Amino acid sequence: MATEYDLVILGGGTGGYVSAIRATQLGMKVAIVEKSELGGTCLHRGCIPSKALLRSAEVFQQTKKADAFGVEVNEPVLNFSKVQQRKNEIIEQLHKGVQGLMKKGKIDVYQGFGRILGPSIFSPMPGTISVEYENGNENDMLLPKNVLIATGSQPNTLPGLDFDGEYLISSNEALEMKDLPKSMLIVGGGVIGIEWASMLNDFGVDVTVLEFQKQILPTEDKDIAKEMEKQLKKRGVNIITGANVQTDTIEKNNGIVIEAVIGDKKERFEADRLLVSVGRKANIQNIGLENTEIQISNHTIDTNAFYQTKESDIYAIGDVIGGMQLAHVASHEGIAAVEHMAGEYTQEIDYQTVSSCIYASPEAASVGLTETQAKEEGYDLVIGKFPFKAVGKALVYGESDGFVKIITDKKTQDLIGVHMIGPHVTDMITEAGLAKVLDATAWEISQTIHPHPSLSEIIGEAALAVDGLQIHG
Ligand code: FAD
Repeated sequence: MATEYDLVILGGGTGGYVSAIRATQLGMKVAIVEKSELGGTCLHRGCIPSKALLRSAEVFQQTKKADAFGVEVNEPVLNFSKVQQRKNEIIEQLHKGVQGLMKKGKIDVYQGFGRILGPSIFSPMPGTISVEYENGNENDMLLPKNVLIATGSQPNTLPGLDFDGEYLISSNEALEMKDLPKSMLIVGGGVIGIEWASMLNDFGVDVTVLEFQKQILPTEDKDIAKEMEKQLKKRGVNIITGANVQTDTIEKNNGIVIEAVIGDKKERFEADRLLVSVGRKANIQNIGLENTEIQISNHTIDTNAFYQTKESDIYAIGDVIGGMQLAHVASHEGIAAVEHMAGEYTQEIDYQTVSSCIYASPEAASVGLTETQAKEEGYDLVIGKFPFKAVGKALVYGESDGFVKIITDKKTQDLIGVHMIGPHVTDMITEAGLAKVLDATAWEISQTIHPHPSLSEIIGEAALAVDGLQIHG
């Protein structure tokens, strides 16, 4: 017998479980089908575990530098199994929290693999969802009025670089390492690769990053990428851009050897392990898309602005639709999708107001267009830039590298993009996001009195710098 629901969600990651909560607030009867664990990539293999490890790495480094603050400590010793234990405890605590939220919302959670079977004479559109169990238990059949696909993504690799879980790993295995290698090669200098490079370097691992593009962090503003490269190199991370990794040269023998073509030279790289971080691919396999009219482009599910697929009662959100593959994007897309299903007024998400963050040391954060993108779109720009070294609180913190860059439209004075690199910028970027949402100008930001001493003073100064009126620089 099939159980009826207003909404069945495939995938209980950040996108899926947040959508479920919002849907129950709107009065829907909801089920989540999750093949693994509630919380998905972000909680178990992404945001949270990586930030927990990054924090341990930061504490390790800061303790080494304590002397500069007048605090004398013995040489700190890293206990990596404790580092991992702390990370696992944080995940467990948050996992219990999500489970509790499902119980509180009376959301049925089916722990199995969900597949869309399509409509039949007994089940009108969008048709039946089957739940298949690993232990061979009989399948469950669910009959929803609406379906939300939130199946997320998994690590991508390059042809010839198949993950073996030991020497050649993705971020999934890297997060579970029992001990640290002496050396790590990282193929791919995007956000995930750079966070790992920074963290492993702080833990004392010898790190080399091989990036195919001319700059690391290819989607970031060029000044931010340049500053990040400079800071990481200063700390001893070996970064090579324009490196074309020759995957067919890989050798594994108690470690990894691989060649890369850099300019007109071929170079050989050796390390204990190789981490591939070349993007993520959407989980669209075996979920029954062939039983629907749903369309795919670039290996992701196509939707309209309200996340409806070609089948109007099947929606899709989060990593599985591509775009900004971020946890906060997945959850907000999910909220917009279920509100649309419920016939509520739905505001389209303006992706130009969404912040994205890099939790390396230094941190980086941005909202809106990069300088290059803005120029390509034909804007005439006025840019204000201000350095952390002129901000008192940054000196107090002992972290005064980096800057804030505010890009505005000369004609309208609108904010086009805000880019930051330096201490705690991942916590400060929201001011720029709010300014974008409210359509504020740089002048309005500069009229907001920022407390002194605070790191946020840099935003006021960068806003003044747009008109050349900065006070301390
Ligand atoms: P997911 O979280 O991937 O959830 C999808 C769920 O669907 C999974 O639990 C999966 O088991 C389940 N599933 C798949 N197929 C089926 C099926 N057929 N039946 C049942 N269940 C199924 N984002 C940030 O915003 N900030 C960060 O700091 C950040 N750091 C990251 C660090 C790393 C190392 C990685 C890998 C990612 C990071 N991300 C970060 C990205 C973030 O994790 C994702 O954008 C986010 O998890 C996407 O949410 P989602 O709900 O779309 O998918």
